[in-house]
Amino acid sequence: MTELIPAHLDHRRSWAEFVYCYPVISRRSKGVSLGVNLNPDKVCNFDCVYCEVDRTTPGRRRDIDLDQLERELSVLLDVTLDGSLFTFPPFDSARPDQRRLNDIAFSGDGEPTTAKEFAEAVERVAHLKWMRGLQEVKLVLITDSSRLQAREVVQGLDTLMANNGEIWAKLDAGTEAYYQEINRTSIPFGRIIENIEITARLRPITIQSLFLSWKGHGPSSAEIAAYCDVLRGIQGIGGRFQAIQLYTVARPTPEPEARPLRAKELDALADQVRAALPTVPVEVFYGPKDELGPEEHSC
Ligand code: SF4
Repeated sequence: MTELIPAHLDHRRSWAEFVYCYPVISRRSKGVSLGVNLNPDKVCNFDCVYCEVDRTTPGRRRDIDLDQLERELSVLLDVTLDGSLFTFPPFDSARPDQRRLNDIAFSGDGEPTTAKEFAEAVERVAHLKWMRGLQEVKLVLITDSSRLQAREVVQGLDTLMANNGEIWAKLDAGTEAYYQEINRTSIPFGRIIENIEITARLRPITIQSLFLSWKGHGPSSAEIAAYCDVLRGIQGIGGRFQAIQLYTVARPTPEPEARPLRAKELDALADQVRAALPTVPVEVFYGPKDELGPEEHSC
């Protein structure tokens, strides 16, 4: 089980007075991940029941200033690489093995690929990484999978993948009904599947799936079977998966009925997924202390 430390529970989307960039100690990255938030307006095309973004208060800003974004990221690279980040709480709680820069992740308060600046932002961040000789640092796109086929997004994906990139594509359901219940969006489930299919046929991707207790119930075994069928179907037409990340709520969310699954529930679910997709590594990230409580999400 990956141990939660205070820094894991503190994924605030800002650091100091920064608008676009923030550092986290990420369990899924197993180290420091520098987030690039292309949605400071908090607008998203999903409305996931487990979303931790507080949309009752306005976003910091509507526009994206790529020069400022670059300056913020440069400062965060400086403080991470010289270690001064780890003198500030909650980063001072990070273990020595977590004090390594793993990636720069396009994530944040909404869906990064909806930003019209997405492709240029990827280009600039990749250039900054290259200029600093950080080829081993990954570029990660954490996406709800809704716009993976848009032309301008594909351009950004090409840049991402040419620069040690990974795509972490959300899939939280196996049926349209459960998808609509959990992700609450007007985008049809079929389009999400098609986007994942086409993207995974071109390059291996990571599937990120959050399963939770919603209104007192976890996903049914039939729902997980349908989810496995979707993934097997994508494999069947040549889609490749680098890994499947199964996780649950880990930090407070505005929806009190969105709760973490217990470790044994998540383990049973992971067993079902491993049995259905034996060639794909399945990674499990548990909730806080295996207790039902008001907890997290990470997009
Ligand atoms: S969890 Fe991610 S995709 Fe879902 S509403 Fe929040 S920001 Fe959007």
